[in-house]
Amino acid sequence: MAPGALLLLGATVVLQSASLREAVTVSAPVYPWIVFGAGLLLGWRFNRRQLVVTLAVLFAANRALAAFPPDASATGRTVFACIALLLPLDLALLAWLTERSIVSWSGRLVLGVILAEPLAVALVLRPELADLARAIDYVFVAAAVPWLRIPQPALLASVVALGLVGLRFFVRRTVIQSNFVWTVLAAFLALNSGGAGVVSTVYLTTGGLVLVVSLIETSHRMAFSDELTGLPSRRALTDALLRLPEVYAIAMVDIDHFKKLNDDYGHAVGDQVLRLTGTTLMRTEGGGRPFRYGGEEFAVLFPGKSAEEALPYLENLREAIEASSFVVRGRDRPTRRPDKPIRSAGGKKSLEVTVSIGVAEPGDLGADPEEVIRTADQALYRAKRSGRNRVCS
Ligand code: GH3
Ligand code: MG
Ligand code: MG
Repeated sequence: MAPGALLLLGATVVLQSASLREAVTVSAPVYPWIVFGAGLLLGWRFNRRQLVVTLAVLFAANRALAAFPPDASATGRTVFACIALLLPLDLALLAWLTERSIVSWSGRLVLGVILAEPLAVALVLRPELADLARAIDYVFVAAAVPWLRIPQPALLASVVALGLVGLRFFVRRTVIQSNFVWTVLAAFLALNSGGAGVVSTVYLTTGGLVLVVSLIETSHRMAFSDELTGLPSRRALTDALLRLPEVYAIAMVDIDHFKKLNDDYGHAVGDQVLRLTGTTLMRTEGGGRPFRYGGEEFAVLFPGKSAEEALPYLENLREAIEASSFVVRGRDRPTRRPDKPIRSAGGKKSLEVTVSIGVAEPGDLGADPEEVIRTADQALYRAKRSGRNRVCS
């Protein structure tokens, strides 16, 4: 969530700064075109419908506010009151959609409602519906709060929307969904600034930028972390190999007889064993950084340590994996709890999981990291041949 907070804070600082006022005024009109243009392109290329629709809604609100300045006419005032009411609610609805649900009937309903909104605004502008227009701009409480410029019904909508996106943050969320909190907050700041002009444009656009940045962050995370184990991926290892100090050790860790484990208990159990091994590897001490190398192989990097210095930590790791008891539930286990549970005969089995480890260092010749990995692989092979469940250097 940090980048979203930083962007919004940055926008606020820039808008408050007297020395930047001129630069901001000059560049504000192009800011939405750049952010929404690039964001829509990214969202389309990355196949993120939720992002595309949200950016389109923010951009449309920004354009409508520019086309009908609230201070200029009664029409402008009504358009502003409508947008101030609808935009936060739209964002809250969009925050609750997912890439899957956006194509379901509920997602289509939300999209239909959003698409119908310009039509609804046009209707509210008709003289026959002047009462409705007044209701949208209704003053419930006559108290004057100087910094509150948003119509009161819209204020209520913003509070409801913030509550909804806040709730979304605590219920199952993705990175993009948790950043909607900042987008709704940015939209509120834009609308509360009066709806037109530089401040509104900067806040609305920053609200979109927060989501674009979070998409880029998600993609980066997907590339550099392994989905199954949560460990850094092989790509992250390649990256880490570029930043090694002169002294380091690399250990290759391979689960013993993993193929047999897969064959005996199934692929799902194999995956669970990989996860468990990953969790144990995360607790490696001595500054060891684990990576999933591929399949049932892992690499542990020890920057600043020789192979000999890394050995005791690797030995601890081997023991920890051997000691971690892993209970497999019987295959005949019902998916739902029956009224009268019966103990199945061959029900629980305790699984023995062990690993073999080979470790190497660049040595006096200053071998490059790829060579060190090959040497560690040879040590691993020796560990396998001499009986498995051991560390070789
Ligand atoms: P050894 O003790 O010599 O290492 O024998 P092994 O059976 O562990 O070695 P081998 O490399 O032959 O087997 C690796 C197996 O790991 C083959 C493949 O089906 C399985 N595997 C690779 N990736 C995954 C995965 O992501 N999930 C699961 N469940 N299995 C995987
Ligand atoms: Mg292997
Ligand atoms: Mg293996």
